[in-house]
Amino acid sequence: MLLLGNGRVITRDPATPYLADGAVAMEGEVIREVGSTAALKAKYPKAQFVDARGGVIMPGFINAHTHIYSGLARGLAIEGNNPTNFLEVLEGTWWNIDRHLTLDGTRACAAATILECIRDGVTTIFDHHASFGEIPGSLFAIEEVCEKMGIRACLCYEVSERDGAEKTRQSIEENAAFARHCKEKNSDMMKAMFGGHALFTISDKTFEEMVKANDGMTGFHIHVSEGMNDVIDSRENYGCRSVNRLYYNGILGPKTILGHCIHVSPAEMDLIRETDTMVVNNPESNMGNAVGCAPVLKMFEKGILIGLGTDAYTHDMLESLKAELTIQRHNACMPNAGWGEATGMLFQNNAKIGARYFEKPLGVLRPGAAADVIVMDYRDFTPFSHENIDGHMLFGMQGHDCTTTIINGRLLYRDRQFVDIDEAAVRAFCLEQSKKLWGELNHRAY
Ligand SMILES: [Zn+2]
Repeated sequence: MLLLGNGRVITRDPATPYLADGAVAMEGEVIREVGSTAALKAKYPKAQFVDARGGVIMPGFINAHTHIYSGLARGLAIEGNNPTNFLEVLEGTWWNIDRHLTLDGTRACAAATILECIRDGVTTIFDHHASFGEIPGSLFAIEEVCEKMGIRACLCYEVSERDGAEKTRQSIEENAAFARHCKEKNSDMMKAMFGGHALFTISDKTFEEMVKANDGMTGFHIHVSEGMNDVIDSRENYGCRSVNRLYYNGILGPKTILGHCIHVSPAEMDLIRETDTMVVNNPESNMGNAVGCAPVLKMFEKGILIGLGTDAYTHDMLESLKAELTIQRHNACMPNAGWGEATGMLFQNNAKIGARYFEKPLGVLRPGAAADVIVMDYRDFTPFSHENIDGHMLFGMQGHDCTTTIINGRLLYRDRQFVDIDEAAVRAFCLEQSKKLWGELNHRAY
């Protein structure tokens, strides 16, 4: 048993939202009890005690949309790549990178991403992967790294026709094989979705093949109207809006995630709501790609389940939260807008999205919930409780304040040191693979 105590506990459980000197007792993969440090120490004298050192104990963060494939891109400049629109960003940067990813490159991307996630207190990721350099086995390679390093994940491969019929077939087969594997394995640490890149690189025939290969096993995870490409392609080639295209192709539903949804009309939002489809927005990435601001406030009004991701722009969910709040206010020209929406996306809706895939409750500290718990090194100098925790997090905390990360009851990171993960070896492997990748992209040695 693990007993994490001597901290201020924010549970996100309305029954016991805050304990000023609290502790969390974890048995195996779940939380057994939340209570005062003294009481739980007395009750579980044999438990391994982990000292939060006065920090804030809280549920680990859930990132509802990220991309492991970008794991080796930090600091990379691709010579001659100077994108002036979103399609050029994809063609010059991301598609270029993922065409050079082998299974080893994918493994290194996964290791780099997971290392950063654990350090930033992210305990669950919904990943959307692409490695057109080597597709077969890529999701299984990521699974191996996730299991070894200890993160909870839901994976998919992005089907796209951009590299021809054979790669399209391979990407469909990779999703289907991995979904079958996860179904058989039935682990609460690893789930599968059926990925699609975006509507403008997928024909109706391919959608039909995806639905057939999926055979009702899981939901879809696809980018939707991130740039205007989807909107224009759907209108010109299919005579309808993007979400309508997804609807008639059988892609929408309660287990499907639509990434971004920037250029969606009110009628498309109604369709998303009526089919109980999920949306995940990634504000920092949207600003970085200059694609616009998603109508998040409107989607809340419509009752859509909308969560928060990072699109791998960062692994720090608090950075994404800050960006969501400020872009929504800026866009609405309203300084009091978006607070409940932005915090609701990260702290409530990401947990609800998690619940559509994982059996154990995530994003909450209470008996029976997943033992995914973090500690943030945060010293307040103003009143602090569950009533104003979101304000403290928005203006006072960042991901790197995480000092301790426990996932599925396994202590992975303690007092800013990795436990059981040889960080130097992981970094060396990532460096070796990134030199290889960068060398191929720029035709020179690093
Ligand atoms: Zn994305």
